[in-house]
Amino acid sequence: MRMIFIGPPGAGKGTQAARLVERFAIPHISTGDMFRAAVKAGTPMGKEADRYMKAGQLVPDEVVIGMVKERIAEPDCSEGFMLDGFPRTVPQAEALDAAGVGLDVVLVLEVDDELIVSRIVGRRSDPETGEIYHLQFNPPPAEIMSRLVHRKDDTEEACRTRLGAYHDQTSPIIPFYEARGLVKRVNGVGSPDEVTARITAALA
Ligand code: ADP
Ligand code: ADP
Repeated sequence: MRMIFIGPPGAGKGTQAARLVERFAIPHISTGDMFRAAVKAGTPMGKEADRYMKAGQLVPDEVVIGMVKERIAEPDCSEGFMLDGFPRTVPQAEALDAAGVGLDVVLVLEVDDELIVSRIVGRRSDPETGEIYHLQFNPPPAEIMSRLVHRKDDTEEACRTRLGAYHDQTSPIIPFYEARGLVKRVNGVGSPDEVTARITAALA
């Protein structure tokens, strides 16, 4: 199963991907997580990516494409993968194509902009478990509150820039995949369980 997950920042891709990969036993490949790990490790790529990420802008295509090609060539991807956050531009989608990577499904998670801002601003993650919480919608246990991470780009200002990038640069890839009959659109508004049920139905 080779899947791509598309949706605006904060649509719930990471939350849903964690559930799906368990079911399909495929790796969850989040380019955002890979960049954050590179930033933390202080690699040259991490340093370059950090400048763009802080501002809510996309990292240049050539950096992302090279990183993803290497990752999906690893043995754990032989039976499939779930790509979350890639491709995010038409050139990235074309590069995947040119590399001969065939896809089974492109899931598009739809949530409107105003709800996105509140999901992003309240997002917190647990660096120890990788669990994603939300201060109101999925409150963390009080005892782990002090170790939770609030991403630098999860401010209202950077979120608005990221939403702009989504509408201008990422949403044009939906017609690209629609032309191949790969797209399944899922309403991302509702509880995480409701959204999982819709995704399961769309994949059936
Ligand atoms: P993405 O990976 O698309 O950026 P996340 O999965 O990180 O999105 O979710 C963004 C924020 O919204 C997180 O704080 C998460 O807990 C919360 N969230 C995810 N799904 C839902 C949902 N169905 N309803 C309410 N909040 C949600
Ligand atoms: P979210 O789902 O909340 O938008 P991600 O974790 O997917 O966030 O991405 C965080 C940041 O990492 C993006 O704003 C961008 O700077 C960078 N990034 C991640 N994936 C890509 C990509 N495919 N192309 C360009 N930049 C990317």
